[in-house]
Amino acid sequence: MALNLVMLGPPGAGKGTQAKRFAAARRIPHISTGDMLREAVAAGTEIGLRARAVMEQGGLVSDEIILGIVRERLARPDAQAGFLLDGFPRTVAQAEALDRMMAGRGRLVVVDIAVADDELVARLTSRRVCSACGANAEFPPAGQPAPTVCARCGGSLTQRADDREDVIRERLRVYARDTRPLVDYYRGRPTFRAVDGAQPPDRVAGDLATAVDSALEAL
Ligand code: AMP
Repeated sequence: MALNLVMLGPPGAGKGTQAKRFAAARRIPHISTGDMLREAVAAGTEIGLRARAVMEQGGLVSDEIILGIVRERLARPDAQAGFLLDGFPRTVAQAEALDRMMAGRGRLVVVDIAVADDELVARLTSRRVCSACGANAEFPPAGQPAPTVCARCGGSLTQRADDREDVIRERLRVYARDTRPLVDYYRGRPTFRAVDGAQPPDRVAGDLATAVDSALEAL
């Protein structure tokens, strides 16, 4: 049975890291709209040019652009046997459009990774990503200096353009206003699960796997 998974969670919940790891383990494509938009910005495509300013200010790219990207990606052969969506949907309108795209493709499993706001700001201001391989650096324990090179490939670590404190606050505000209502949109479904994202990454990964498996049993 195809695993069609949506991962919800605020910026800084560890969603991207968990999503990459989980998708690799289950051999389904990891579809991150944020990654696709950053690639479009780096490549200077028309979509990238239209999205760049909004992203740098912490706002949401228009539903029209996002839905076009996602529709095209989900139509590719590798997504037919399942997929993991990371960063999409982010508005109720996007969730409704996704439900329409799912007609005839089986049901969605939805997992929300929940973390309190104060913890998110602390994590995002210290987040560093590798400029070579794109991996997120581990958050250093409290009081320890942040690493400067990637533990995986030795590439230099940089800060994402939208991880400045003022932009982070805007992203969390936008999340609370536009994206948190999605949790209510999905909560009543038998395939919705919530996971505590404040735990160490391995524990979150374990809970995520358990949550997905129990949701699949409810299908
Ligand atoms: P992320 O890497 O998921 O945090 O996304 C980075 C930025 O890309 C967001 O702050 C938005 O500006 C934009 N973005 C990513 N996914 C979406 C989406 N589904 N809808 C609107 N904007 C998005």
